[in-house]
Amino acid sequence: MKIAAFLAVAALLTAPTASAQDLPQLPCADADKECARRAMKHHGATDVASWQAMLALPAAERIAPATPQLVEYIALDNIANGYPERPRAARLDAGLLADVKAAIADLPTAIWALFGERLVGVYFVEGLGGTGYTEYVFDAQGRSVKGFIVLDAAVLAGQRANAWATWKENTPFAPGPGYRLEARIETDGKDNRRNAIQYILLHELGHVLSIGADIHPPWNLSPKQIDAATKYPFFDLAWTVDRAADKYRSRFDANFPQRAGTVYYFGAKLAAADMLPAYASLKRTNFPSLYAATAPGDDFAESFASYVHVVLMRRPWQVTITRDGKPVDIFRACWGEPRCADKQRMLERLVKPSS
Ligand SMILES: [Zn+2]
Repeated sequence: MKIAAFLAVAALLTAPTASAQDLPQLPCADADKECARRAMKHHGATDVASWQAMLALPAAERIAPATPQLVEYIALDNIANGYPERPRAARLDAGLLADVKAAIADLPTAIWALFGERLVGVYFVEGLGGTGYTEYVFDAQGRSVKGFIVLDAAVLAGQRANAWATWKENTPFAPGPGYRLEARIETDGKDNRRNAIQYILLHELGHVLSIGADIHPPWNLSPKQIDAATKYPFFDLAWTVDRAADKYRSRFDANFPQRAGTVYYFGAKLAAADMLPAYASLKRTNFPSLYAATAPGDDFAESFASYVHVVLMRRPWQVTITRDGKPVDIFRACWGEPRCADKQRMLERLVKPSS
């Protein structure tokens, strides 16, 4: 699932130009989506057998530059999806590695403990075509049992938490005179790269936590392929499957006309003047953020990240919309509010250490 933070422009500005020998030889031509899809099926990077050596390490040590096999898989995924970026393994500088380790060490112990079994590791590339990526890893029976996270080292290099969150939350809206949207996820003293990485990582960990847990339909199937007999309790709180149209619908769509036009990263579809009505609609849903309203998997990943960050780690999270310099609306995390009570109860059960 190519997810979070498509910082394509930032990547172009900051990523060093790859020389030909850095780029892997791919088994498919640049535009051959069909070949890429075929090559991704049963690819070694998604086979748990490939990860045995890594899995022998403690989870917090499973941080490394991406292997050639993993780089190839991500490149194939970009070809299959028509993304122009061609990733390469990143040199992981000591400062960035220290920030990633510190971001993990700072998580509540019970939260990090959820990932010892499920996470095969956090790997770094440059030229990902995003900041974060999580994918299934399958066992010999073809069941998704674990996941890997890939982060773009070049994109993370210069991030700070609030600037990154503000940039991300603005991407659905075209710039317009008078309107500004500011996201705040850290206090000024903690507004640094480590905490940008921590929030990005929490979102990806949310995707990993969903693996094998029947939280929402798997992201490697399309809506029309979803088995009607399988129950997805978290998904059911906000979504339905429209098999005929091969789409997921939110239960709030009738009162949330801006949702269909909410597209992050790839070019804004909403106008700046839509900020106020979009966030007014969002307050009548159980989505913890606007990004959560874009897809079932991201609803859960955003809910998990926001819950851990705000409730368990007592950090700030709010979006402020200003018009002509004056704050006109504030959207806060919904934990403790009736609108998110059902989701909160499910999250509390999920993150409770098993006894
Ligand atoms: Zn995501």
